[in-house]
Amino acid sequence: MQPATKPIRTTCPYCGVGCGVLATPLADGGLAIEGDPDHPANKGRLCVKGAALGETVGLRGRLLDPHIHGRKAGWDKALDLVAKRFGQTIAKHGPDSVAFYVSGQLLTEDYYVANKLMKGFIGSANIDTNSRLCMASSVAGHKRAFGSDTVPGLYDDFEKADTVVLVGSNLAWCHPVLYQRLAAARQARGIKVIVVDPRRTATCDIADLHLALDPGADAALFNLLLAEIDQRGLIDANFIRNVDGLPQALSAARETPPFSTGLTHADLIRFLDLWTRSEKVVTVYSQGINQSDSGTDKVNAILNCHLATGRIGRPGMGPFSVTGQPNAMGGREVGGLANMLACHLDIENVDHRNAVQTFWNAPRMADKPGPKAVDMFRAVETGQIKALWIICTNPAASMPEADRVDRAIKGCDFVVVSDMIADTDTTRLAHVLLPATGWAEKDGTVTNSERRISRQRRTLPPAGQARDDWRILAQVGQRMGWRDAFSWNDPAQIFAEHAALSGIAGRLGRDFDISDHAEITQGQYAAMQPFLWPQSASRRGGRFFGDGAFHTPSGKARMLPITPRRPATLSPEFPFRLNTGRVRDHWHTMTRTGLAPRLSRHIAEPFLEIHPRDAEKLGLAPAALAEVTNPHGRAILRVLITDRVAPGQPFAPIHWTGETAPTGRVGALVPASVDPLSGQPASKSATVAIRPFAAS
Ligand code: SF4
Repeated sequence: MQPATKPIRTTCPYCGVGCGVLATPLADGGLAIEGDPDHPANKGRLCVKGAALGETVGLRGRLLDPHIHGRKAGWDKALDLVAKRFGQTIAKHGPDSVAFYVSGQLLTEDYYVANKLMKGFIGSANIDTNSRLCMASSVAGHKRAFGSDTVPGLYDDFEKADTVVLVGSNLAWCHPVLYQRLAAARQARGIKVIVVDPRRTATCDIADLHLALDPGADAALFNLLLAEIDQRGLIDANFIRNVDGLPQALSAARETPPFSTGLTHADLIRFLDLWTRSEKVVTVYSQGINQSDSGTDKVNAILNCHLATGRIGRPGMGPFSVTGQPNAMGGREVGGLANMLACHLDIENVDHRNAVQTFWNAPRMADKPGPKAVDMFRAVETGQIKALWIICTNPAASMPEADRVDRAIKGCDFVVVSDMIADTDTTRLAHVLLPATGWAEKDGTVTNSERRISRQRRTLPPAGQARDDWRILAQVGQRMGWRDAFSWNDPAQIFAEHAALSGIAGRLGRDFDISDHAEITQGQYAAMQPFLWPQSASRRGGRFFGDGAFHTPSGKARMLPITPRRPATLSPEFPFRLNTGRVRDHWHTMTRTGLAPRLSRHIAEPFLEIHPRDAEKLGLAPAALAEVTNPHGRAILRVLITDRVAPGQPFAPIHWTGETAPTGRVGALVPASVDPLSGQPASKSATVAIRPFAAS
C-alpha cells in the first residue's frame, strides 16, 4: 500500500522505554510503522510489539458510540448523565463517595485533567491508577531515600557501565529495545551482565552470571552487598557526607545471615566481586522488586548500596527503575497517584496544597491522600464509593483478586467506563460507556523511564464518535459547574498549564520544572522534540544526585535499615508459589496486541511454566491442562514443562482474560496483599494448588 502522506513522528504506546515511531498513514486508512532513527530512546529500533502497531489500528473491536445501560446514546445525553450522577452523589454523600481509577497509558494531558477535576474541584483524592500495580514501590523508595520521586540516571548509563545488574527484570521481553541496546553495548565493550531472578528468563541469554535466588530474597542479597561494601572499605568517604543513616543501615545489613538468599557461596562471592570491583555499575530493577509486599524495602536495599559507594548520578552508574507502562512517569508528574499532588508536590504539605489550589483557583482541594488501588476497590465493595469512573484500564481482569473486584464493580451504584475497546471484562460492567480515542488518534505527551518527554501525535482520525480522554473529562467538569477551569481547546493549552504549574513546583524546591514551556504555542507544541526534565534556568536535562544534593529537608540522602522479609509462607493445601509476568509479544489484557495475528505466533495461549519434578509429581503431561486454584480464584492453563523455573515456583503470564481465555485470568489468583508503604500488591507470590484439569 502506497503512503498517503509523509511519516508522522509519534511514540509507542506500550512499555516505559518510550520508543519513537514514524507512522505513515496509508491510502487504505492503515499505518506503516518504522522506528524513529532520531528518537534518543530507540535510535530507530522497535521491538515486535512496536513494529506491529499498524496491525492494531482500525475499527475491529472498537467502541464507537456512547452507551447508557447497553443502548447507544448521544454524547450530550451520556455526559449530562455522568455529570448529574457524580454531582448528586457528591451532594448527598460528600466528595469521597466518588472515585476515578485511571491508567499509566493515559497521556499526560489526560492525566492532568483527571487529577485537576478530582483533587481540585470535586475535592477528593479518590483517584488512583493502574500504575499502582507497576512502580508504586519505586516511588515510595525514591521518596524515602532522595526526598523526591526522581529517577537519577539515563538510558545511556546502561551502555556506559562496566557492570549492569538486572534485578527482577526480564528486560529482554518487557523492555526489549533497552535490552537490545544493552546487548549491543555488551558485545562492543564487554559489559558484565548479572541477572537476579528466580526464573531463568530470556534475559539470561546475555548474562555472565544468573543468580536464581529464593523468591523474595532480594533485600537480603543487597544487605549482604552493603555489608561487603563496608568490609572491603568501599564506602565513599566524600559522598557519604551527603547521606544520613549509614550506621543504622549497616547494622541491619550485618545481621543478614550469609545463606539467606538460597544462592551458592560461589555465586554470592562472584556477585559481590563483580559489583564491588566495578566502579561503573548500574542496578536496574523492575516488577520483581516492586510487586512485593516488602517492595519499598527492596528498593531501598538497592539504593543503600549506590548511596554508600556514591555510585549514583554519574555516567554509567546508579540505580535505575524501569517502568512498565508508556506514561507511568507522566502520571507521576501530574500527581496521578492518590497520595501525590501535581508536579511532584505533596498532598500532605499545606504549602504545596495551597500553591496548587491558588494556581487552579480551585474551590475545594483534597487535603489528605486517597485510598490506593486495592483499598479503593475495597471502598467500592463496602459501598463507601458509590460512583466510579474507570478510564483506559481493565481492573476487573488485572487487579489482584480480580473476581472480587469484578463483584465490587458490579455492586457499585454508578459505573462509568471510558475505553477505546467495546468488550472487556470491565466495559461489561458499565452503566455508561464512553468511547475514547485510541493510540493513533490521540495527541499529547508521554514521559518515559528516563524522564524524557515525547510527543504522541494524531496520525488517524478518531474512530466513530470517539473523543479524547482529556476532552471527555473536561466536558464533564464543565457540566458539573466549572466551566472556565476546564475550557481548553486543545492539548497544547493543557500542557502549557501543566508547565506553568511546574514552575511553581520549582520555586517550592521540586526539580520537576518544565516552565520554559508555559507559553508554548500550538505550533511549538506540534514541533516539540523529545526532551529530558528538568528544564529549569539552572539545570537542563541530565542526571541527578551525582553532586550530592538531594531533595530532603536536610539536603542529604537517607539510607534505611532494611530487615528482609520473606513472602507469604506456603501450606500443605497451597504448596506452590505462583510467579506472574509478561510475555514478549503481548501487552496487558491483550485488548490491542490481540488484534495483531503475528503477535500471537510467539505464544498463542495462556500457560503454566512448571518444573519437570513438579509436573511428574502432579501427573501433568506436556501440553495438558492444569487447574490452578487458591481461595481467591481459579485458572486453567496449558502445561509447559521447563527447568527455567525452580521446583515449587511455577510461572503464568498475565495477559489472557475475557473472551480470549475466561479461565486464564491469573489476576483472580493474585492476593490483594500490599506493601504497607507503597500500597503495591504482591503480584508474584500467590500461593496456589495445582492439579490436572478434568473437564466435567
Ligand atoms: Fe514499544 Fe517498548 Fe517495544 Fe519500544 S521496547 S517498541 S516502547 S514496546
